[in-house]
Order: sequence, then C-alpha cells, then structure tokens
Amino acid sequence: MKPSTSKGRTSLRWTLLLAAIFLAALIGGLVFRLAPELRRPAKIDPAFQMAPAFFVTSLPTATRFDFPIGSENGAFAYNAQPFTQNRHLGDDLNGIGGENSDLGDPVFAIADGGVLFAREAGPGWGNVIILLHAYEENGARKYVQSYYGHVDEILVVPKQMVRRGEQIATIGTADGKYWAHLHFEMREFTTPFIGPGYRDDTRGWLDPSAFIASHRGAPADDVGRLSASPTPTPGRGD
Ligand SMILES: [Zn+2]
Repeated sequence: MKPSTSKGRTSLRWTLLLAAIFLAALIGGLVFRLAPELRRPAKIDPAFQMAPAFFVTSLPTATRFDFPIGSENGAFAYNAQPFTQNRHLGDDLNGIGGENSDLGDPVFAIADGGVLFAREAGPGWGNVIILLHAYEENGARKYVQSYYGHVDEILVVPKQMVRRGEQIATIGTADGKYWAHLHFEMREFTTPFIGPGYRDDTRGWLDPSAFIASHRGAPADDVGRLSASPTPTPGRGD
C-alpha cells in the first residue's frame, strides 16, 4: 500500500511539474508574440481618428466643384490612369507636357472645404492632402472628401478652411518614385484615411472625374474662378 501511494504522489508531482512547465511556456510564448502589440502606444493613428464634430459642422457648403489641376473644367490635364483601371482608386492627373514637365505645377482645392490631413504619409505616398467638403443634394447636407497624393509642396495646414480654386500644393513625384503626377481620389467617408491607392472593392470611393463633371455647378465655358468672392484673389490661369 505505502510504496504505491508514494509512487502515486511522485507521478502526481511530475504531472504538476509538467503542467507548470507547459503553462509557463504557453504564457511566455503568448507574451513574446503579443509584445509588439502590447508595446504599441495606445493612441490611435491620426489617420484613423474621426474628424472633430466642430470641424465637420463648420465646413462651408460647397456649391461648385472644379478639377484640381490645369483648368477648372479639366482642360490642360491628362488622366494617365482613370478610376478602376488596374484597380486604381483614383485618377492619375498630369500636365499635358508629359514626364516631369508638370513637376511643381499648382494643385487647387476642388471646392470650398476644410483640411483634414496634410503631411508625409509614408513611402509610396509622399506628401498627402485630404480635404473634406460639405455640399447639398436633394435637400440633404452631404460630405465628400478630395485626396491629393504624391504632392511636392504642402501649402495648407490641418483644420484650415480653403476656398475653391485656392492653391493647396504643387505636383510632385513622391520623392522621385514616379514621373510627376497627382494621384487624385474622391471618397464618401469623412475620416482622414490614407488608403491603399489600389483595391478591388471600391465601396466608399467615387469616380473623381464623373463626380466633378456632375457637380460643376457652372456651365463648361464658365471660367470665373472665385467669382462669388467680393475681393477676387489671383487664381489659376495667372
Ligand atoms: Zn494613382
């Protein structure tokens, strides 16, 4: 009786020891694997932060939308890769001179609105500006975002209000990664989201050229930039 009890106790001890080792290894492995997540600052990336409610409600109501480079109605610009071609989420807009002839050319705010984002957005993007616009459609206040990628110079700061036709940037190359062009997106969401540039699922993204064409708010031959302003400031074409 006695030896067998002691034998039982020994095997129980061994079982407990093995269980403890297994548990320690499991916890150790989990901690090791989760360490990068645990060490990451709790603050949410600014790219995913919601636009402040005050900023959104104080946006002016845009009544007209223009093309961001060249002339207001899209002349003097060339779309090298339209929306959805090769899963593209925007238009690649170029000056008509080709290659880097449009480097440093002005990029204009397509409509009255506010600056959601204006800074370096990582390799592949270079400098990015995101504007948020409020407009009215069928009696409802709606929001649309315009996204200006690979820009060279940034001429606005976040939360700043901008007017349609105001120069906000210059055309860039994303630090020499591409021939100079403007990667231009329009989106239905209000968050300052950088995004992938290319994707199969285009929900939330709009065809930029089609949106502007259907929201010009002016006849095609009207070139009166900032005509609503009592003190006209020099616009494009100067
Ligand atoms: Zn692009």
